[in-house]
Amino acid sequence: MSLLAIVIGAGVNELVCAHYLARAGHRVLVLEGRTAHDDASAGIGWVPPRIVRDLASDRQGLMIHRADPWVAVALPDGGRLELARDVARSVEAIRRLSPRDAAKWPAFCERMGRLARLLAYLYAAPPPELMGRELGDLARLAGLGLRIRRLGRQGIEDLLRLLPMSVGDLLDDWFESDALKGVLGAAGVMHLHQGPRSGGTAFVLLHHHVGSPAGVFRPPFSNVARVLAERPGVEIRRGAEVARITVREGCIAGVVLASGEELSASAVVSGADPRHTLLDLVEPGWLDPEFVRAVRGIRRRGVVAHVALALDRSPGFSTLAVAPSLDYLERAYDDAKYGRVSRAPYLEARADRQIAGGRHRVEVHVQYAPYALAEGEWNETRRAALGDLVVKVLAQHAPDLGAAVVERSVLSPRDLEDAYGFPEGQEYHAELALDQALWMRPVPALARYRTRINGLYLCGPATHPGGGIAGAAGANAAREVLRDFRFGKPK
Ligand SMILES: Cc1cc2nc3c(=O)[nH]c(=O)nc-3n(C[C@H](O)[C@H](O)[C@H](O)COP(=O)(O)OP(=O)(O)OC[C@H]3O[C@@H](n4cnc5c(N)ncnc54)[C@H](O)[C@@H]3O)c2cc1C
Repeated sequence: MSLLAIVIGAGVNELVCAHYLARAGHRVLVLEGRTAHDDASAGIGWVPPRIVRDLASDRQGLMIHRADPWVAVALPDGGRLELARDVARSVEAIRRLSPRDAAKWPAFCERMGRLARLLAYLYAAPPPELMGRELGDLARLAGLGLRIRRLGRQGIEDLLRLLPMSVGDLLDDWFESDALKGVLGAAGVMHLHQGPRSGGTAFVLLHHHVGSPAGVFRPPFSNVARVLAERPGVEIRRGAEVARITVREGCIAGVVLASGEELSASAVVSGADPRHTLLDLVEPGWLDPEFVRAVRGIRRRGVVAHVALALDRSPGFSTLAVAPSLDYLERAYDDAKYGRVSRAPYLEARADRQIAGGRHRVEVHVQYAPYALAEGEWNETRRAALGDLVVKVLAQHAPDLGAAVVERSVLSPRDLEDAYGFPEGQEYHAELALDQALWMRPVPALARYRTRINGLYLCGPATHPGGGIAGAAGANAAREVLRDFRFGKPK
């Protein structure tokens, strides 16, 4: 039976979900509150190969970009450490800082790669129901067990030790070079309201390694969202903000738009964040208080600002990271812990394209810039001060950059919330802390995309596996929707 599914949002997860539902023969309507598709930084994340195969197999227009070297680390003496896709090239670069670390790099890459492949397996499907008796769950659990066994004794020890560990402890175990530990440690705290000495951050390093070749610890960029937005098969309405999700007798009925228009649907899949979906959009009274309390408790605290620079010449780097040591990162976090912007922030600047007039665009990830400030609010003065700080810090490592800036824009976490709907400026919609990951993402009751309302699902980055993995949550959610409908649910 063909159903009409409404998908809320036109980001990458929603579009992947919509296309999987359409591919199964259902009618799909995507409702996006914003008026235009925006490519700015919106393509970060590993696209699982199954999604490419299923939805973009002709690869028409699809571009997946991975910089090589994937990062240049700014060294305190003005030099740079370049880490490349080729492990042997990185070994040579690291040797200049520490022959001991260089000798360990291949083993580190191999062991982290093995664990990341296990995560990739877990990310490719909804987390298996631990107490489930259905054949699919049992097969997935058996598959997981087998894969864990195949890690061997060393791999299992690595896994058990690493999961709860701080990325700082993990890297101190392996390396001595501050710069190497700094740039790897940054992947463990990316988008997280925690520092590298916090437990669970080693898992976040692994998360950002999933899908990358051995020795690459940052996700690639792609235009998969744009490719899917332009692909026929699903209807996308932009400027169509959903104001309410309507429920009848515990089952989904449809949605009401901000314009007042009512639309009915057999299933609604929301890519908006869970708190917005379940507490703002769903009519009150359908959810039990205990569940509401859990949803209210989802942590989203955004800590990243984005600074875009237009330069009149090339910046002389492809990706430049300012994260000189674990202590630097921890001190940057100390400020955020008390509601202040880091005085010396972790920066990652990406020179991604040449824009009109021969200018070069540089996008800077700035962390930590907390959403909630201890004193005052985000305003023009604070944005300008942050822009000045970013240019000053970058110019210490790219001396020509200061004079080359001809235009600059700063998006604080507040602005990211206003412009893109990221809750509290959190691009992953829910922090990727270990207690909000895997079977607990974003809370155990929502880990399999279903909500307590028949026919209402979640598919955004707050659901498993989370941000930084483009489209996996959407693909997994579609699988659950199709499964329910195959077995005649929801009514
Ligand atoms: C400036 C910028 C920087 C980014 N940086 C990173 C990064 O560093 N790392 C990373 O992994 N990702 C980053 N992203 C985000 C990333 O591209 C994806 O957005 C993210 O992975 C999640 O995708 P999504 O489609 O699930 O959710 P989103 O992209 O958040 O899409 C959800 C959509 O739902 C819409 N929506 C919400 N509520 C409603 C409603 N009531 N009615 C209708 N529509 C609604 C929103 O407008 C939004 O378009 C960035 C995005 C931007 C724009």
